[in-house]
Amino acid sequence: MRERILLCLAHMSGKEQDFIKEAFDQNWVVPLGPNVNGFEKDLEAFVNNRDNNSPLHKEVVALSAGTAAVHLALIACGVGPGDEVLVQSFTFCASSHPITYLGATPVFIDSERDTWNMDPDLLEEAIKDRIAKTGKKPKAIIPVALYGMPYQADRIMEIANRYEIPVIEDAAEGFGSRFMGQVLGTFGKYGVLSFNGNKMITTSGGGALICENAEDKREIMWYATQARESYPYYQHEAIGYNYRMSNICAGIGRGQMTILDDHIAHHKHVQELYCELLKDVKGVTMHCNPGADYDSNFWLCTAELDPELKIKGQENAYKQVITGAVGGAAGVIHAASSAVTDCQPNDNVEALRMALDAANIESRPLWKPMHKQPVYKNAPAYVNGVSESLFATGICLPAGPYVTDDDVRYIVDNIKAAIDNQ
Ligand SMILES: *Cc1c(COP(=O)(O)O)cnc(C)c1O
Repeated sequence: MRERILLCLAHMSGKEQDFIKEAFDQNWVVPLGPNVNGFEKDLEAFVNNRDNNSPLHKEVVALSAGTAAVHLALIACGVGPGDEVLVQSFTFCASSHPITYLGATPVFIDSERDTWNMDPDLLEEAIKDRIAKTGKKPKAIIPVALYGMPYQADRIMEIANRYEIPVIEDAAEGFGSRFMGQVLGTFGKYGVLSFNGNKMITTSGGGALICENAEDKREIMWYATQARESYPYYQHEAIGYNYRMSNICAGIGRGQMTILDDHIAHHKHVQELYCELLKDVKGVTMHCNPGADYDSNFWLCTAELDPELKIKGQENAYKQVITGAVGGAAGVIHAASSAVTDCQPNDNVEALRMALDAANIESRPLWKPMHKQPVYKNAPAYVNGVSESLFATGICLPAGPYVTDDDVRYIVDNIKAAIDNQ
């Protein structure tokens, strides 16, 4: 039996252990130290590099998670109880949950078809409507680079600047993706990165916030280390958090930075191979860069299934309550109360997922839009049907560093075999 092909499995360079050993040898087993500083320098060098252009001067803070980075960016934008934040609906929950941590309300914005990310027209409509309805401007805008694909950064930034609303780019999935030659996360006031176990690179768990200058970086670091005042005792005048990255995790990060470019090149190569092998398969459409300005890292490769496409056994999709869950290794999951919900992928998508699973291939539906999540049923949403329709038709395919050309051929062969041609 083949080994299971996973969506995106962490892959080590071998240098991680040298950096960790150094941390132990020098007794820096704490949430600060040479690896944290070194990792931040490496990240800054990477994000500040622009194609054919003068370098940027962004600063980076290493944190315990991408979710923590979103949370602290919101605090730095002054988000508090009663405020509203405009956030892409088509995303993982870490983009929007921290808004609720602060007692603020997420206002969900649907996607456009080209990038699957925040629709700039809906964004502007929402800004106008929220000002008309609440008398207040939303406090921040969070576009998300879904599966690595850049959002329309030029249009979103133009609108945000015109209304003077800060942008927090959620580039957690888009580390190393570029728009017009510039790394995602460097367009807005803040940029979020994630180094969770299944992201482009990993620190086992971790994240970072890209900031505009040293002063903003210091403020984020202050909040990330319990917001202490300079007294000989612990004096607190603001609420802080324990969100700094440990020197051990940063050691893993420094090792991972040595293979970041290789990882990005590999994901792009896998995407190209899927596109080539699936180009003549009717009813299966890969999600590609929509133009020359877009340079996705293809963190996960994604495809859409035509609703008319017949997959063998699709009449049996959703007949059983699922006992596991996506991301199942990551913790405790409540038991599902039913086999279906009122918003779910089409039967053919679920049938293909099951067929690939039986061939030992991990695949996954796209993110379920936040405006369709029960926990957000009362949040305002500006929708056009795009993310809901993509959720119904889309599927994520393996793309990580361990996915070989042979694996891609095997996956495509299994997709073709699952299609019911009669
Ligand atoms: C992974 C991810 C994050 C951050 O997640 P952490 O696991 O906390 O590092 C944020 N937003 C999106 C869209 C993500 O996929």
